[in-house]
This record gives sequence, C-alpha cells and structure tokens, in this order.
Amino acid sequence: IFVSFEGGDGVGKSTQIDLLASALRAQTAREVIATREPGGTALGTQLRQMVLHGRDMSARAEALIFAADRAQHVAEIIRPALARGAFVVTDRYADSSIAYQAAGRKLSVDDVEALSRWATGGLQPTLTVLLDMSPAVAAARSNGDADRMESTTVEFRERIRAAFLERAASDPQRWLVIDASMSIARVHGEIMAECGRRGWV
Ligand code: C5P
Repeated sequence: IFVSFEGGDGVGKSTQIDLLASALRAQTAREVIATREPGGTALGTQLRQMVLHGRDMSARAEALIFAADRAQHVAEIIRPALARGAFVVTDRYADSSIAYQAAGRKLSVDDVEALSRWATGGLQPTLTVLLDMSPAVAAARSNGDADRMESTTVEFRERIRAAFLERAASDPQRWLVIDASMSIARVHGEIMAECGRRGWV
C-alpha cells in the first residue's frame, strides 16, 4: 500500500504523516515506512540542498533535480518497501512536480508527467491525500521557516493550490481532498476513516 500526501507549504503534511504512521503501527501488523521527497535518500538529501538553496536555477534544471530525487527515492526506498509488503507513506510525490514545476514554473504538464513516469517506472500511489488550505491561512500558521523556497508570491501559491485541486478532481478514486484548516484531530480522523473504508485498518 502506497500513500502520498500532497499540498502547499505549511498545510500540516508532516504532522499528519506522523499521526498516520503511529496509528498504523498501533493498529496493523504491517511494517510502516514514512518517507519524504525531496530528500528521502542520501542522494536526495544532497539534491534537496541544491534545489532549496540553488540560485537562479532554470525551471528545467529544477524539474530534472526533483525527478532525479524521485527516481532514487523509488529505487532505494519505496519499491523495496512495497516488495516487503510495507505500508509506505510519502510526504510529496509526482503530483508535487505537476503542481510546482508545471503549474508553478510553467513547464508543460505532459513533459513533467512523462519525466515522472520515466523516473518512477510508472509507480503510482494507491491513495493520495490532498491537504487543501488557502495560502494566506497556511502562511499565517507557518513559523516563517527560512529553509524553504518562500520567495514565492501568493499568486504562485494559488496556482499550486489550483493545480492540486484540478488533479484531484480528475481522479477521485485515487485522491482524498481534506480541508486542512480543520483541527489536527479532525484531519487525522478523516484520513483514518478513509483507511477504514479501504479496509487497511
Ligand atoms: O515539502 P517540503 O517542505 O519538504 O518541500 C521543500 C520545498 O520544495 C517546498 O518549499 C516546496 O514548495 C518545494 N517543492 C517544489 N517542487 C516539488 C516538491 C517540493 O518546488 N516537486
């Protein structure tokens, strides 16, 4: 079982992944792997530094670095874990590239999709949880973490949000959209309810 979490910056993905991983460990016998991108592997940690602190990086170079990170993440962590029967939960996956590199940095969706497909060998999540929140609310809740690409404008962040929502609407079987402005406990409750509906807990 492969679950990805998506959404803009500061919507609470890592908090919800921690809660989900703990609940799954308590309620199922399966191995649970919580991972993330960019940066889920040793190579990915280096790539993450490059992409977060790089100056004047072209959109195509950025897309290739995220794709390289994803390729290594799938090969080193995700596929071996799935082969062992583990429950894998990742903080971001290919849909982030559609949102950030295609919608955000205005590359072609088809190109970015093809790049991800090649990087991952076509591996798709079973379920993708979109934590949706207005960028203004997310910014107000954030602690102003400087280690992020937060030179982005509100308009850029609105484009990211719209891209995620559009993608979710096009494949409701795979996506669960949650209003992330609700309490942490309620968001977690909705995620667990979906896991229950799918027979995972
Ligand atoms: O989710 P996380 O905070 O670890 O992501 C690091 C930064 O990389 C974020 O600011 C996010 O906006 C950006 N990012 C991106 N394209 C991706 C994934 C993340 O621009 N495909």
